Amino acid sequence: MELHKLTAHELIPKLETKEISAEDILQALYSRIKSIDSKVNAYVRRQNDSSFRDSPQETGTVPITIKDNICTQGLNTECCSKILGGFKPPYDATVIKKLKAAGLSIFNFKANMDEFAFGSSTENSFFGTTHNPWDLERVPGGSSGGSAACVAADEAIWALGSDTGGSIRQPASFCGVVGLKPTYGRVSRYGLIAFASSLDQIGPITKDVRDNAMLLNIISGYDALDSTSINTAVQDYTKSLTNDVKGLKIGVPKEYFVEGMDKEVEGALQEAINKLKSLGAEVKEVSLPHSKYAVPVYYIIATAEASSNLARFDGVQYGFRAQQTQNLIDMYKKTRGQGFGDEAKRRIILGTFVLSHGYYDAYYLRALKVRTLIKQDFDKVFKDFDCIIAPTAPTPAFKIGEKVSDPLKMYLSDIYTISVNLAGIPAISLPCGFTKAGLPIGMQIMSKPFAEEMIYRVAYTYEQNTDWHKSKPKI
Ligand code: GLN
Repeated sequence: MELHKLTAHELIPKLETKEISAEDILQALYSRIKSIDSKVNAYVRRQNDSSFRDSPQETGTVPITIKDNICTQGLNTECCSKILGGFKPPYDATVIKKLKAAGLSIFNFKANMDEFAFGSSTENSFFGTTHNPWDLERVPGGSSGGSAACVAADEAIWALGSDTGGSIRQPASFCGVVGLKPTYGRVSRYGLIAFASSLDQIGPITKDVRDNAMLLNIISGYDALDSTSINTAVQDYTKSLTNDVKGLKIGVPKEYFVEGMDKEVEGALQEAINKLKSLGAEVKEVSLPHSKYAVPVYYIIATAEASSNLARFDGVQYGFRAQQTQNLIDMYKKTRGQGFGDEAKRRIILGTFVLSHGYYDAYYLRALKVRTLIKQDFDKVFKDFDCIIAPTAPTPAFKIGEKVSDPLKMYLSDIYTISVNLAGIPAISLPCGFTKAGLPIGMQIMSKPFAEEMIYRVAYTYEQNTDWHKSKPKI
């Protein structure tokens, strides 16, 4: 039996009856990784990591792969940046504690990502680009590209990613897997290395909707260590997997069907809408008039917060420190100059600029006001609708190298995902078709704050009535 191909909900009963052991699952994963990861590069291989399996791996029940920006005690956590080289956190993030308490084993190798989660393609990783398992010449999306690619290629059973402006959903869409960005405040961010603190959320990336709901059950909940965590009851999300959307009201934002959207993506979405209608949902056009400002607003707020969060990396406390420096200031400068990659530097410069005296009101403050308008657009729609569906990204996975020299083009690929972070609402991406060339297409389902059950209900119903999630890349 090829255990690496199974989902957690398929493996757990086999573990319970002792038909298989946790060690069997790990062995299956290691041999899969050894045979294909030199092509995919979903996992980070640091210096001295010559082979997978030289460090002792704890065996719990089902192993889980963790993005390189979530702190794992004693296990390198470097945000795929040179500046955090060698950093081993002295503590576990709250989500890691929860996974361990649930009996899962934390996989010893971390998932590749864009440096500090800055990017939409995983091309900004210090450890090299991850390749999309469906077409190795294409990007897996980003920034959680390693997490999505390893799940898609059966190099992991399931994984955690983080989503500040689409970093779980867009790679899930490019790799044909299921990724959820929970409501802001649903999952503790304690131990997630901060990018933009008013937007960041940790979330599950899985092979199907059931596994996604199971994983959210484990990681959600109030945490006194995260002041943005919200104290509301955690539902059992698997209870909403009912295969029934009769009478639900679904909105489709007219502003999302714009020029630049790939025709095959549009076609797949149209068919998905028809499917949901045939299953009894009521689908109507809605308007989110301020969507057009989402990209500029996001890139002002996210860079402002990033420039502040990244100030702590100066060679004193964590990771890399430049050698041959004259004095303290010189050490700071050389460490940051040599330690950060180009995109990180671009964001620090942009963020510092929009927060600077004289520009703060014109950029940062104005962006915060427009953010409120974007949130109000959603509030209005959710008064009458249970959820909103839209594409996850305007195109399928693009070619490696296609957008690296044009940051604006790269930023535009986030057009459908970032409003969700600005509004703090939850959203999922799940497979809804393939292009003629065989690339996965993702559909996004959004709902109001803490309505993850509604999202899972619609996603599960759609999944159970389609076969997209059953296709696997031929690698
Ligand atoms: N692609 C977006 C960016 O580059 C989102 C990244 C993320 O969600 N971490 O900022």
